[in-house]
Amino acid sequence: MIVAKFGGSSLADGSQFQKVRRIMMANPDRHYVVPSAPGRRFSKDDKVTDLLLGLYDTAASGLPVQPALARIRERYNLIIQELELDVSLEEEFKVLCDNLQKGFSREYCASRGEYLNGILLAAYLGFDFIDAAEVIRFDHRGQLMEAETDRLLKAALSAHRYAVIPGFYGAEENGTVRTFSRGGSDITGALVASAAEADLYENWTDVPGFCMADPRIVPDAKYIQSITYRELRELSYMGATVLHEDAVFPVRRAGIPTNIRSTNDPQHPGTMITASAGIEGVQHTITGIAGQKGFSIVYIEKDMMNSELGFGRRVLQAFEEYNINFEHLPTGIDTMCVVVKEKELEPHRTEVIERIRALVNPDQITVNDHLALIATVGRGMVRVFGTAARLFTAISTRGISIRTIDQGSSEISIIVGVDESDFENTIEAVYDAFVRT
Ligand code: ASP
Repeated sequence: MIVAKFGGSSLADGSQFQKVRRIMMANPDRHYVVPSAPGRRFSKDDKVTDLLLGLYDTAASGLPVQPALARIRERYNLIIQELELDVSLEEEFKVLCDNLQKGFSREYCASRGEYLNGILLAAYLGFDFIDAAEVIRFDHRGQLMEAETDRLLKAALSAHRYAVIPGFYGAEENGTVRTFSRGGSDITGALVASAAEADLYENWTDVPGFCMADPRIVPDAKYIQSITYRELRELSYMGATVLHEDAVFPVRRAGIPTNIRSTNDPQHPGTMITASAGIEGVQHTITGIAGQKGFSIVYIEKDMMNSELGFGRRVLQAFEEYNINFEHLPTGIDTMCVVVKEKELEPHRTEVIERIRALVNPDQITVNDHLALIATVGRGMVRVFGTAARLFTAISTRGISIRTIDQGSSEISIIVGVDESDFENTIEAVYDAFVRT
């Protein structure tokens, strides 16, 4: 049994709905569908969720809501017309308007995008409709209650063979609607897949999977055919986005693979994400490359640092006191480097350095900004002799100097730090060395 989630661009208008129906009908194992709200139809278009947030702001500032509401109605009514659906959402729009007057929340307003799209999709597919407010449970702080959600979902799903469950939102026990963070329909899909004990979670979007490198930097980057959840985590942490970060956990835990597919290219097998994947058939030593700019590196030097008990802890304490997360911690015998996000360090730079001085009395402490980190990730890397040498050679032959290296304990990634101005060139160099050869 398959749970299929369709993103906003896959349901942006009538012709996209038709593609979704073709996909659904092509395989009767696809029992449950999780839709997003209608997304952009063209690059300057608005997502319905953004229109709804605008509507909320208009209502909250006491201005007339009709113009903002008209744009939203138009989007849905166009879909109804294009598909010749025998459905009217007029009553729903009245309820939305009334609820806004009553002071319903921003999250409630944002959630209507998925809710209304779910009603249309259920009608179009001939599936049952399950309101996510009934089955996705949040506590009063807006935190997902996983066990309760699983229980509610299991009970609801067992009563419906084929159903649409809108993504992105749920509700507190008292009915107050809450949402996940943006892109959260991916999480709903994963929760439904897990509760349904699905064999597969399909996540349909507008690209056939993850690219091995950001296509804005490497325009001919290949798609990743197979990747493990752990590798994906390393890549997403470094900024590769397609799937909401939190969508990984429920399915990973349940041992359900996720398949990223493209609604616009349904023949493409997409990227398959699994708990463990063999390295047989792996085409390249590496699975992917991802990186981010905007890091600072704090170098701390002190003779005999290695024999000073608690040194590292006290250094990290200084960062913790100012709520600064550390990202990486490459250390030497008498040196310790703390890599942090520049924007987190910036407001407290002087105080943190003073605090480190007071806590560990270092011989020297320096900060270098504008660092970019690039992670080269691959489950095949450790087994292949000379991977690190190949990586560093590829980078250094381009005249790029590596400022820091972190092989991490995961053994599936090597992270290098370079000047931000070398960011794109480094990614190109790594891609070239491992994929184009
Ligand atoms: N519609 C919501 C958003 O635009 C949630 C989603 O698409 O997953 O973020």
